[in-house]
Amino acid sequence: MNWEDNIRRVIPYIPGEQPKDRNVIKLNTNECPYPPAPGVRKKAEDFDYERLRLYPDTEAGELAEALCQYYHIGKEQLFIGVGSDDVLAMAFLAFFHSGKPVFFPDITYSFYDVWAELYRIPYEQKKLDEDFRIVKEDYMAENGGIIIPNPNAPTGILERTEMIEEIVAGNQGSIVIIDEAYVDFGGESCRKLIDKYENLLVVQTFSKSRAMAGLRIGFAMGGEKLIRYLKDVKFSFNSYTMNMLSVELGTEAVRDEEYFRGTVRKIIATRERVKKELADMGFTFPDSKGNFIFASHRDIPAKRIFEELKQQGVYVRYWEKPRIDNYLRITIGTDEEMDIFIRHLRSIMKKEPA
Ligand SMILES: *Cc1c(COP(=O)(O)O)cnc(C)c1O
Repeated sequence: MNWEDNIRRVIPYIPGEQPKDRNVIKLNTNECPYPPAPGVRKKAEDFDYERLRLYPDTEAGELAEALCQYYHIGKEQLFIGVGSDDVLAMAFLAFFHSGKPVFFPDITYSFYDVWAELYRIPYEQKKLDEDFRIVKEDYMAENGGIIIPNPNAPTGILERTEMIEEIVAGNQGSIVIIDEAYVDFGGESCRKLIDKYENLLVVQTFSKSRAMAGLRIGFAMGGEKLIRYLKDVKFSFNSYTMNMLSVELGTEAVRDEEYFRGTVRKIIATRERVKKELADMGFTFPDSKGNFIFASHRDIPAKRIFEELKQQGVYVRYWEKPRIDNYLRITIGTDEEMDIFIRHLRSIMKKEPA
């Protein structure tokens, strides 16, 4: 017997690159190009470092209160974690325990199959249709749980809340998780359904629309019973996962609704302008409701565009995976960043022999 035979072997998720060079135009990990709310800066500057010797509040009380007020939900309907990745990992562990396969789309956030593999949860990837849309009927078979991002990543496609509700209503024997990482950029949240369906968990993050990827704040909304089960798992792992600074700075971000709305509005306006420019250059793409565009060119291979852009210091995301290996996922940056991106793109187009 070799010790290596007893290891839990996993193939980890690979996040987008974080280049050291700060001059890179970073359109590869869907971060917000604008800083967090001004109140966050003030709070960080005023923070008394001596307090760091104390343990933080296990319930992240201040942040929880701000979120409950903002989203009009009860304290018992909220779960907070270290980024939505942490929330989702806990939810997989807590809710997908039946031994039956968990369903999610074949083209989606590529962490889902990693968690399933890690926990040895069986899963089935349901094929999106030709237009990358979710086929509702695929989710109406017996399952051990369902997870769907809405809008979906990396396509940006938003499915109607009515369809989400039908999937939740049709699967009351298992837990349905809706990952709303991008919902603030033009989608309708299905959080209002948590009062109606005990089997629904809605997950959101501060990493994209609230410009705080670096602080790692995510949360989930669901029925009281579901949230209690999730907390039991989390507190069996680690009771102090939310650090003091994240709790306090996150609270400031939630309190400044006007700034939040303004940031989101700017990103949406830039996204719509970039869509026109890309269409003009011969790109096709689904009508994204996220802070990114998933685009393909009719003549030039995505991989080549990806590599040439990178040489120019513009990073976008590319996956060498079936069905999507001719697409680029382009995060929406500031208007200035997108102008530079488009300029490089146009020169790549020009170089290409017709
Ligand atoms: C970015 C992203 C997450 C993870 O976000 P964090 O809160 O930073 O962990 C989860 N789901 C989807 C679909 C995402 O795109």
